[in-house]
Amino acid sequence: MNQPVHGEENPFEAMQARFDLAAAKLGLEPNLLQILRTCEREIKISIPVVMDDGSVTVFEGYRVQHSTARGPAKGGIRYAPNVNSDEVRALAAWMTWKCAVVNVPFGGGKGGVICDPFKMSKGELERVTRRYVAGIMDILGPDRDVPAPDMGTDGQVMAWLMDTYSMHQRAYLPAIVTGKPIGLGGSLGRIEATGRGVMIVTRQALDHLGMKPGDCSAAIQGAGNVGLISALQLSKLGVKVVAISDIHGGLYNKNGLDLEAIQKHLQKTRKLEGFDGGERVSNTQILELPVDILVPAATENVITSRNAANIKAKVITEGANGPVTAGADKILDQKGIFVIPDILANAGGVTVSYFEWVQDRMAFFWTQKEVEDRMEHIMVESFAAVVDMARRFQVSNRIAAYMLGVNRVAEVTRMRGIYA
Ligand code: NAD
Repeated sequence: MNQPVHGEENPFEAMQARFDLAAAKLGLEPNLLQILRTCEREIKISIPVVMDDGSVTVFEGYRVQHSTARGPAKGGIRYAPNVNSDEVRALAAWMTWKCAVVNVPFGGGKGGVICDPFKMSKGELERVTRRYVAGIMDILGPDRDVPAPDMGTDGQVMAWLMDTYSMHQRAYLPAIVTGKPIGLGGSLGRIEATGRGVMIVTRQALDHLGMKPGDCSAAIQGAGNVGLISALQLSKLGVKVVAISDIHGGLYNKNGLDLEAIQKHLQKTRKLEGFDGGERVSNTQILELPVDILVPAATENVITSRNAANIKAKVITEGANGPVTAGADKILDQKGIFVIPDILANAGGVTVSYFEWVQDRMAFFWTQKEVEDRMEHIMVESFAAVVDMARRFQVSNRIAAYMLGVNRVAEVTRMRGIYA
């Protein structure tokens, strides 16, 4: 099993550090603090899979439900070699606070399988997915726990999940999962939702700070669902996107990158490598470029106490979950950088996942415009609520977002009481 990490880079401890600050500001009673600080339910399973060469590999999978106080657990499934229990716990808790920040009626959950999807065939991925779903099925359900894509998983994986669950339940149950292909009950606008949300909150932040998109440059770490779409959306807004990276490194062109060409190259080759039109930069350098907006949209712990002082951006929009460690928070604050925290910045995805779940349950589907307008409204209102909280309590945007989310979960937990 992958060993949990300790210290600054343990994401669950990072979540708890921010939670504790928010809880203290809210004056949360100690009993409630104990309940909300821990996860409700955790499953760890072995996933034996027959590989294409006939050998058997036993993978390790997790599903964690942090809270179901406000609704079914909601959160993605990650396929990556470095998945570990504390990471899944942190991601589950962040989902709880995120759903509460944007006020959609879900709790928080997350899942993961330790594997490298880039080194597996389609058949192997399908077998891992179906066996994983069968192993955690007892805690899933449209009213219990509704997964979605995350790093290393996509609409096809969600389709296998939906099919496996539906076959076992002897029913057509698209509301078991979101991020599905449109033909299977997916929502228009879901693929773009997280990147579009990143653009909306960045636009609101620029407006709040008196900056104009047309005068701004941006660097994006990550060229997947969140990174690439954030880049395309920011560019549509008028921002000059000068750098983007994937796991192998990045591309930088101070005159702006041709993002449509990059998108085509990625569709063909699945990596940035081999694309002409910029100089190569590392994933460390991309974070320290002289840009106005930085969007870390790849993975956790990329801005830590070691490199936070080198960041030059005026605005950081956290497309990824947990890209900034608790140790780096103070340094960024002291530098006066306007940070839009993950639990607000990337909440466009779960907001449209909520719309998808609603549409599946009604079996009545909305137009792209209806989806986009409703999402826009929620993101704009949530941004304003966080900034207002930060101003009233004189705290950072991150602690303000936690306060907003934690308070909403605390309220319903008090109302529900402790079942004995
Ligand atoms: P993805 O798999 O589509 O893309 C991930 C990108 O990051 C790829 O370009 C990959 O090469 C790069 N990457 C991976 N590890 C890296 C590393 N160590 N250093 C640099 N680059 C690395 O995943 P995604 O769905 O875009 O998710 C990215 C982040 O956004 C994750 O933190 C995820 O939890 C978060 N997120 C995703 C969604 C969503 O709707 N997909 C919603 C909210 C938050």
